[in-house]
Amino acid sequence: MTANLLDYDLEGLAAFCASLGEKRFRATQLFRWIHQKGARDFSQMSDLARSLRDKLPTVAHISGLTVITQHESTDGTIKWLFDVGNGDAVEAVFIPEDDRGTLCVSSQAGCAVGCRFCSTGHQGFSRNLTTGEIVAQLWFAEHFLRAHLKTNGERVISNVVMMGMGEPLQNYSALVPALRVMLDDHAYGLSRRRVTVSTSGVVPMMDRLGEDVPVALAVSLHAPNDELRDKLVPLNRKYPLAELLDACNRYLEHAPRDFITFEYCMLDGVNDQPEHARQLIELVQRHGGTGVSCKLNLIPFNPFPASGLVRSPQQSVQAFAKLLSDAGIVTTVRKTRGDDIDAACGQLAGDVKDRTRVGQRIAQQRTVMLTLVPADAVTKEARGS
Ligand code: SAH
Ligand code: SF4
Repeated sequence: MTANLLDYDLEGLAAFCASLGEKRFRATQLFRWIHQKGARDFSQMSDLARSLRDKLPTVAHISGLTVITQHESTDGTIKWLFDVGNGDAVEAVFIPEDDRGTLCVSSQAGCAVGCRFCSTGHQGFSRNLTTGEIVAQLWFAEHFLRAHLKTNGERVISNVVMMGMGEPLQNYSALVPALRVMLDDHAYGLSRRRVTVSTSGVVPMMDRLGEDVPVALAVSLHAPNDELRDKLVPLNRKYPLAELLDACNRYLEHAPRDFITFEYCMLDGVNDQPEHARQLIELVQRHGGTGVSCKLNLIPFNPFPASGLVRSPQQSVQAFAKLLSDAGIVTTVRKTRGDDIDAACGQLAGDVKDRTRVGQRIAQQRTVMLTLVPADAVTKEARGS
C-alpha cells in the first residue's frame, strides 16, 4: 500500500519526504500542487525534480473520494454524497452567500452521540473518517467549484464548518491534521476564525483543541438545563452543563477576543418556551459568576422521518430570539439552506450500513436524471420516503 498524500498536513508531508531523502522545500512544493492547484497526477508537477516525479508514483498516490450523487438546490447550495467504502457514505454541503462560500464537512460515517433530533444520530456509528477523507471533501469541493463556477483559479471556499455528519471531537487524531491543512498558507490558507468545529460537548477534547488548534468553536447546547439536555444530547450525562460551560471558558483563554457560538435547535413544545429562554439567559450570563462570552444561533429544527419531533413555529422562534436579544445576547436565527435537497442541518444521513440502498440509490438516480425530474423529487424518491 502506498501513502495517500491527502492524509498529511505539511509536517507529515515533510516527514514523508524526509523518509525518501528529500528536503523540506519539496514537501512544500508538493503540498501546494495538491491543495492549491488540485493536482492528482505527479507528472503535472513541473517544478519537481524529474527523479522525484518518477519516484513518487511508486510510493504515493493522491486519492479523493468517489462521488455517489451531487444535488444542486434552487438557492445554489450543492450537496455531495461521497462513498467511503463498505456501504458507508458521507455528505458535504457547499453554501454560497454574497460575501463568503462555506463548506460543511463530515468527520465520521454516522455518529455515536445519538442526539434525538439528528438524522445522523439516528443511524448509529459506523466509523471514523481518516484525515485524508476529511481533507478530500474540501479538496474535491474547492477544485470542482473553481471549474464549475469558472473562477479562473480564484478561491471559492472561504469558510469551513465541521457540521456535517459525525462528532468531530470524537475523531480527534484525524481532525487535527485536517484542520492544519485547512489553515496552512501553502494549502487553503483559511483564517483561524473561518474554520469552525462544532461539538456536542466532548469536554476533554475541547481542552486539547484549545491548546492544539484554537479554531472557532460552536457548541451544540439545545437545552438550558441538565434534565432536558440529558434527553436531547445523551453525552450530557457524561459532561453536564456546568462542566461544559467551564470548558467553554477555558477554551476562550486560548482564543482571546473570540466567543463561543451556542447552537440551539428549536423543537416545538420541547425547548422553545419563554421559560427555557429565561433559563438559557441565566445560564450563559451567570455561569461561574462571569457567564460565557457567546452568541446564540437558533436553528429551526429540520424534520426527518422517524424523529417524532416538530419544528417550532416561527412566532415561537422570534419570541425566543427577542427574549435573548433583549437580555443583551447577540442572537441569530439560522436561515435554512438547501432543504429542497435535504442538505439542511441534521438532515445529512448518507447511507450508513446498508450497502444495497446505496446501490439502489445510484440506480434510481440514473433513471430519474434521465427523465429530468427536479432535484427535490430525486432525493425523496432515492430515500424511498
Ligand atoms: N456533531 C456535531 C456537529 C454536527 S451537527 C454537533 O452536534 O455539534 C451540526 C449542527 O446541526 C449541530 O448543532 C446539531 O445539533 C444540528 N442539528 C442536528 N440535527 C438537526 C436537525 N434535525 N435540525 C436542525 N439542526 C440539527
Ligand atoms: Fe452526532 Fe452532532 Fe448529530 Fe448529535 S447532533 S448525533 S453529536 S452529529
